[in-house]
Amino acid sequence: MFILFGTKDRAVETDSGQFHCPNCNLKEEYGKKYVQDWFTLFFIPIFPISGKKNDHIECKKCESIYHLNVIDYKPALNEEEMESEYEKALKNVLCLMILADNKVEDEELNIVSEIYNKLTKNKKFTKNQIEKNIALVKKSTKNVQEYLKKIKPYLNAGHRELVVKAMYYVASSDGHLDAKESKLLMKTASVLDMTAAHVKGVLSELDQAKIN
Ligand SMILES: [Zn+2]
Repeated sequence: MFILFGTKDRAVETDSGQFHCPNCNLKEEYGKKYVQDWFTLFFIPIFPISGKKNDHIECKKCESIYHLNVIDYKPALNEEEMESEYEKALKNVLCLMILADNKVEDEELNIVSEIYNKLTKNKKFTKNQIEKNIALVKKSTKNVQEYLKKIKPYLNAGHRELVVKAMYYVASSDGHLDAKESKLLMKTASVLDMTAAHVKGVLSELDQAKIN
């Protein structure tokens, strides 16, 4: 007989209430949650193997994830839009992809702006903001794994595919995928626990869409 064991992230709710969700732009229910890694035996969680981490607030309506300070967010007082952790991570990984081939091309900036707008239901990521974000990513030593670590447990399968698709669009905006770009693309997919076969499927769908 063989024994199948592994690990699994579990999100545990510790509190709930009402807040102003910046994404819904309405008063909604939230859940306060933390994440913990559990040891599993035949896919059944047996005991925790990590501390409680990534305290966060999740909107029960749109499932956006926020830093705990979102509870104090008052729409009338804040000039800048409160970003969800997903939006922040998305900006950073898209900028990483722009930098993958060591050239920042106009075409790439346009595509990132467009993709970000689509993936966030019309939020703005202007050329100017992208250039500032690129400068921050350049200065930081964080890699794609570190940027995605925090939000990964909360991304559903659809989100994960969207991130990979967006990265692919940016990488191929100049007409071809160079070695560094495809390496970063596959690294992103593996950080998101997507298999090579799954990625291939997603990308061939995109190529199909281009032809049609
Ligand atoms: Zn919401």
